[in-house]
Amino acid sequence: MSANEGLASMPFSVLQGDLAALDEKGLRRSRRTLESAQSAHVTVDGKKYIAFCSNDYLGLANHPALIAAAQAGAAQFGVGAGASHLVLGHARAHEALERALAAFVRLPRALLFSTGYMANLGIVTALLGRDDAVFADRLNHASLNDACLLARAQFKRYAHNDLAQLERLLATSKARRKLIVTDAVFSMDGDIAPAPQLLALADRYNAWLLLDDAHGFGVLGAGGRGVLEHLGIQHPRIIYMATLGKAAGVFGAFVAGDDTLIETLMQRARTYIYTTAMPPLLACAVSKSIELIAAGALLRKQLSENIFQLKQILKDVSPEGWQLMPSATAIQPLVIGDNRAATDVAEKLAERGVLVPAIRPPTVPPGTARLRISLSAAHTTDDVRVLCDALIDAGRAFH
Ligand SMILES: *Cc1c(COP(=O)(O)O)cnc(C)c1O
Repeated sequence: MSANEGLASMPFSVLQGDLAALDEKGLRRSRRTLESAQSAHVTVDGKKYIAFCSNDYLGLANHPALIAAAQAGAAQFGVGAGASHLVLGHARAHEALERALAAFVRLPRALLFSTGYMANLGIVTALLGRDDAVFADRLNHASLNDACLLARAQFKRYAHNDLAQLERLLATSKARRKLIVTDAVFSMDGDIAPAPQLLALADRYNAWLLLDDAHGFGVLGAGGRGVLEHLGIQHPRIIYMATLGKAAGVFGAFVAGDDTLIETLMQRARTYIYTTAMPPLLACAVSKSIELIAAGALLRKQLSENIFQLKQILKDVSPEGWQLMPSATAIQPLVIGDNRAATDVAEKLAERGVLVPAIRPPTVPPGTARLRISLSAAHTTDDVRVLCDALIDAGRAFH
């Protein structure tokens, strides 16, 4: 067998080196396979765990009322949408959901997307081109970064929440259109973007502001309406985006804002036009979810009590050298630093029946590997206590 024949029979062997390099740096990722429904308590490989990994912040993903709504939706509309929204995939269920979402976030109009990733790609590429500029927080979600690259606009990144740097970038820009993009709640840090100040800059420099509220929708604000309600802001420059697979417990995403903006996205966003519509049964489930969110003050109260309890215990007996980040949201990251140390601690917790994901670069900056603790209203006081005990013991063993 010649060398060429050898290569031809293993055409992907060139990739092995890359995978080995991931192993070496402690960056190889793997999956656990759930045997149970997604909730605060899960079964993996026959073993029961308390999970602090989920974005299902209100415990709705497995709610009987949502399951019933999905079943009724399947009975009425079938399982698949069968076509894109603009062809013949837009059902009455989607239409009703868009109206409900717009009313819920108190914006003129809303447009559904199949995922948050696709919504972000669609929004930025529909609004910007080569003559334009986008100004992005360094800690934004990967989908926003990819959107900015795909739009081929000038892509200016500013240090996390650094308003002075953002202002300098805006002031010197000669771009035709300017768009500021930010996570509303930062997905790996849990802190909230200074949206009022960003809006003031948007006003001063004639920019638009895209707020990605994936982690705020459903949980922030007294009524769960998200970051706009939480911060008490409404502004015509806002492009509001949120996902429906996190606190809403289902799947999908939407964009809301000005009527002309939404009409433009419907006409121009390629990830809206060239993809199959979300199954209508999911739109039925989300509509039910919005009702539960609107009536979910008790769920949000339980969630904030869980957040308070975690912070309180870990402040009193913090595992030495580990620090919770200054987050007031359901995302409570505990920074460990080293990649392998983070996965080792996550393994130790798993041995105790507690699942917490170790988040490593490139999802977070190098040297800031962390346990990303996600709390839910579905966690009990005991669950949080078990987590804290396991963390404290793992901290002892570690130092
Ligand atoms: C999860 C997430 C997305 C992507 O949403 P999907 O619906 O899961 O594709 C976008 N932005 C942020 C900030 C997220 O956390």
